[in-house]
Amino acid sequence: MIRIFQKGFNYSQDGPGNRLVYHLQGCNLRCPWCANPEGLARTGGSERSVEELVEEVTRSRLLFFDGGGVTLTGGEVMVQMPQVLELLKRLHAMGIHTCIETNGLSAELPELFPYLDLLIMDVKHYDPAVHQAVTGRENTLVFANITVALNRGQALALRIPLIGGFNASLEDARGFAKLFQELGVPGRATVELLRYHEYGKDKYKQLGLPYMMTEAAKVSKEDCERFAEILREQGVTIVRT
Ligand code: SF4
Repeated sequence: MIRIFQKGFNYSQDGPGNRLVYHLQGCNLRCPWCANPEGLARTGGSERSVEELVEEVTRSRLLFFDGGGVTLTGGEVMVQMPQVLELLKRLHAMGIHTCIETNGLSAELPELFPYLDLLIMDVKHYDPAVHQAVTGRENTLVFANITVALNRGQALALRIPLIGGFNASLEDARGFAKLFQELGVPGRATVELLRYHEYGKDKYKQLGLPYMMTEAAKVSKEDCERFAEILREQGVTIVRT
């Protein structure tokens, strides 16, 4: 069974075209800016079998226009291996365009690559120690998974959630640029910058949880553009979705 806390159609945000997006329950990180606090615990949501999901996708096929398909996101999809692997295998065999969005912190991630048309992966920081201090885990595994994906020719879209005071200064931009050079990202994967937003704030209130983020986390469009420019100078392709 797969635990899901939200699903819906989305156009061209989590992969190409019109997509059925499933948000899977549970996450192995605790980012203070998380917009989906209801999806963090491993319990909760509703349980659906792989078979039920395959049927639902089959019924929705006509809606996958403009190169659309199915995206699995979270929470963190890798928390629900091996069911995720089984589902992706089934969808891939049906010729459905498949995509996952992941924080990349799973050694099992490459097992999914043969069944994935697009891998969207977060890179939250270039310094594993800072990543550990803020999210609860260091992230060298993310860098290793990027290398495996690129060596395999896996279509890869990287995302940086830009959070003021954490990773959004120009010095940080140079840190990411250096990391991407070392990993061979330029010309082989795209990078998207996602400015911090407060969409999840009310959910924390509803759940009775403290909201740790302050105004200082906000990043202006101008600062985001300067950040992007430093990456572009190093040959990184910046995209907006
Ligand atoms: S990895 Fe994503 S879902 Fe998990 S805590 Fe961080 S922002 Fe939230």
